[in-house]
Amino acid sequence: MYDIIIIGGGAAGFFAAINAAEKNKDLKIAILERGKDVLQKVRVSGGGRCNVTHACFEPATLINYYPRGKEKLLEPFRKFQPTDTIEWFENHGVKIKKEADGRMFPVSNSSQSIIECFLDACSNNNIEILTNARVESIEKQEEEWRVIIGGERVLATKKLMIATGSDTAIWRLLEKLELNIVPPVPSLFTFNIKDDRIKDLMGISVEQATCRIRHSKSGNKSLDNFSSNGAALITHWGLSGPAILKLSAWAARELNEANYQFEVIVNWLGNTDMEKARQHLHQLITLQPKKNVFANTEFGLPIRLWKSLCTASGIGEYQKWAETGKKHLIKFTEQLTACTFNVNGKSTFKEEFVTAGGVDLEEIDFEKFNSKKHPSLFMAGEVLNIDAITGGFNFQAAWTGGWLAAQHL
Ligand SMILES: Cc1cc2nc3c(=O)[nH]c(=O)nc-3n(C[C@H](O)[C@H](O)[C@H](O)COP(=O)(O)OP(=O)(O)OC[C@H]3O[C@@H](n4cnc5c(N)ncnc54)[C@H](O)[C@@H]3O)c2cc1C
Repeated sequence: MYDIIIIGGGAAGFFAAINAAEKNKDLKIAILERGKDVLQKVRVSGGGRCNVTHACFEPATLINYYPRGKEKLLEPFRKFQPTDTIEWFENHGVKIKKEADGRMFPVSNSSQSIIECFLDACSNNNIEILTNARVESIEKQEEEWRVIIGGERVLATKKLMIATGSDTAIWRLLEKLELNIVPPVPSLFTFNIKDDRIKDLMGISVEQATCRIRHSKSGNKSLDNFSSNGAALITHWGLSGPAILKLSAWAARELNEANYQFEVIVNWLGNTDMEKARQHLHQLITLQPKKNVFANTEFGLPIRLWKSLCTASGIGEYQKWAETGKKHLIKFTEQLTACTFNVNGKSTFKEEFVTAGGVDLEEIDFEKFNSKKHPSLFMAGEVLNIDAITGGFNFQAAWTGGWLAAQHL
């Protein structure tokens, strides 16, 4: 008989276990992990550096990074937010640093620091860690929970926490406990595009692009509502970078419904709209008529992209601004500010990906991160229908949920 069993040896599970133990040393706590090693996602996270949180310290701003979970996270973030995360890790011997884009990492630049910190804290607090312990069944018997591992071993506990990430089998078990599950779909992915305009440009990035989605051939007009700003990166397979990843997160469900067949319209000039771009190009015809168009980039665009967009607009290699007529100007302006690509499928973004969907947030009391139907059942992390854009926000949701659950476990 345990006081607390936590199913899932990942970010949320460890954070909840350690905080519960530190609050009450007498509790008998176990973490059950199906794999042979714990914290595997933490290990690979952020390219092996673990992007633990983001330097965004205002809860009302922080929630805007969560396509799913936004409203429900406001109060929890008022209780445990990135400042608390940084302080927690520093108190446990892991110094955290901020990068220019706001992402925060251990100073060691290694996820191993986080793993060691958690394992040390478990050992100091006598938390049992059972690996190769896949939970196959959960039963509620009056005031206690029975957890069945590997078809035979039965453990009993007063309080149960589910921190299994995006595990479909556990969602099925939770459905049997009459919890509603929002169907899972991938989030944080890159767009597959085969197009001559970007074919040989992999590695080129535009710092401030605006990207928007246009409805697919299936006619799903709800897609037209999604747009984002930020860096756009041309890859082997198509487009990536923060602007694209943000779109993939915000439109995760709609893009899944469209079977990942849609159009993305890129304004390579960011906030410069079509009319302003046209006026700028028009001025160049007057101010520098003898200058070669092809070889002289404008708007700070990478020269290879500029040349490719010239070609797509019918502007030749030796063409001067004076030779650029109205037809070329219209086409070129369009390529610069409304460059339309057909997207055909998605690829995994290796640094971070998550699942949208999971336990319906209406099932959860966000003061305690427990089930409204079964108050002794706690949940945090990706098992819930909460996910964020890339940048350390997904872990922050796991820390916040794990910490709040621990206060009541
Ligand atoms: C490659 C990659 C990189 C990432 N990088 C970042 C990053 O840098 N920053 C960031 O904020 N987010 C990042 N994320 C997202 C982040 O890792 C997740 O949001 C976070 O790990 C969720 O924590 P969790 O505890 O809910 O789930 P997980 O970390 O997935 O842990 C769940 C655990 O439960 C175990 N489990 C599942 N089912 C069972 C079962 N039946 N019985 C026993 N155990 C079970 C699993 O094996 C797993 O160990 C990344 C994700 C990926 C895939």
